[in-house]
Amino acid sequence: MKYQRPKGTADILPAESAKWQYVEAKARELFKKYRYHEMRTPIFESFEVFSRTSGETSDIVTKEMYDFYDKGERHITLRPEGTAGVVRSFVENKLYGPELQKPVKTYYMGPMFRYERPQSGRLREFHQIGVEAFGVDSPALDVEVIAMAIDLLESFGLDSLKLALNTLGDNESRQAYRQALIDYLEPFADQLSDDSKERLHKNPLRVLDSKDKKDQEIVADAPSILDYLTPAATEHFETLKKLLDDLGIKYEVDPNMVRGLDYYNHTIFEIMSDSKAFGGKWTTVCAGGRYNGLVEQLGGPETPGIGFGLGVERLLLVLDATENGLQLEDPLDVYVVGIGQSVNAETLKLVQSLRHQGFSADRDYLDRKPKGQFKTASRLNAKYTLTLGETELAEQKANLKSMETGEEISVSLADIYANFAGLLA
Ligand code: ATP
Ligand code: MG
Repeated sequence: MKYQRPKGTADILPAESAKWQYVEAKARELFKKYRYHEMRTPIFESFEVFSRTSGETSDIVTKEMYDFYDKGERHITLRPEGTAGVVRSFVENKLYGPELQKPVKTYYMGPMFRYERPQSGRLREFHQIGVEAFGVDSPALDVEVIAMAIDLLESFGLDSLKLALNTLGDNESRQAYRQALIDYLEPFADQLSDDSKERLHKNPLRVLDSKDKKDQEIVADAPSILDYLTPAATEHFETLKKLLDDLGIKYEVDPNMVRGLDYYNHTIFEIMSDSKAFGGKWTTVCAGGRYNGLVEQLGGPETPGIGFGLGVERLLLVLDATENGLQLEDPLDVYVVGIGQSVNAETLKLVQSLRHQGFSADRDYLDRKPKGQFKTASRLNAKYTLTLGETELAEQKANLKSMETGEEISVSLADIYANFAGLLA
């Protein structure tokens, strides 16, 4: 019997995990500056948390849910996205209380699950880093969230990025636009894909998001949401754009852009990269928007919210495809070379002491000849080697060699144990 990982999943091996840790550490560092705090919610939730919020005609609900009944007959879903779970938790834990500073700013990172056709940058288990901010309706917060997403991507050295922006307006704008879209699409009904036919009356905005070529041609001339905005929705959008201008953040308004989830309103955005990883085509790495009705929908008081989700696998594909790739160091300060069985205990004491003194240290465990051990030390890019055999042990000494300069000196074990850093000065 040969075991294989499930289709659409990936093993992150020791050689790659450093990249993940790098990305996660950068994100945590940045979120700290923006004063966002981590929230860890369950990886599975009640089915309804997602089915009620993503939208009954969304891809997520119609095709992509990993759902099952547990032994207690509860309908469970492996989370397909981060926002609904965070909002469920926000409501359940009453994070809207008056004692809490608004906005309540949170972030998360972790696995998401969607039953999709796996391909490059599209998996069934994938990972997102996301933020959610609650309790403030001001477009200034939209700008903070967008600026933070761009900062994050730029902190990885990415520069060829595009910010695509749109608004879905408020409920009233949406209702007016919905009707206009239906009126526009109805004459094309026969030519639409099956999915889009189905969605035409249930949720015509979904048709704008279709990946079908013919649908996309039809939709290209559809009316624009921007012509159906209420004055309040227009003002939110205009202020947002003005504030982005003031910060020097470039954007392109794409009036046909909608999001894959139904809970969005007002501002929506995508940050795209034209990386070689995707054949130079613009690919969305990060996407988000405002969801002012979502907290209420999950049983909380009326509370605005805004957030984004960034696909970590896609980000890593883009980073790997940059000119020099993602170069991460794996520093080793000291490799201890022990010659013969008699020094086995002392070399172990040495690596332990060095580690306790704050250095990274390693040694041989295969009783190899000195030559082999030195080879390993250079392969691991050790900065220093410490060598000892029977004679050195008898004299309570070791040879300290700088791998960079080749310089070698004899040092006492007592000095190493007392203060190794002092020997390097
Ligand atoms: P797409 O149109 O590519 O299916 P989406 O609208 O379903 O994307 P979102 O729900 O907005 O995607 O998720 C935010 C980000 O998460 C995406 O921009 C992408 O980087 C990443 N992502 C989404 N689905 C997957 C997946 N199946 N595998 C890997 N990353 C994904
Ligand atoms: Mg999708």
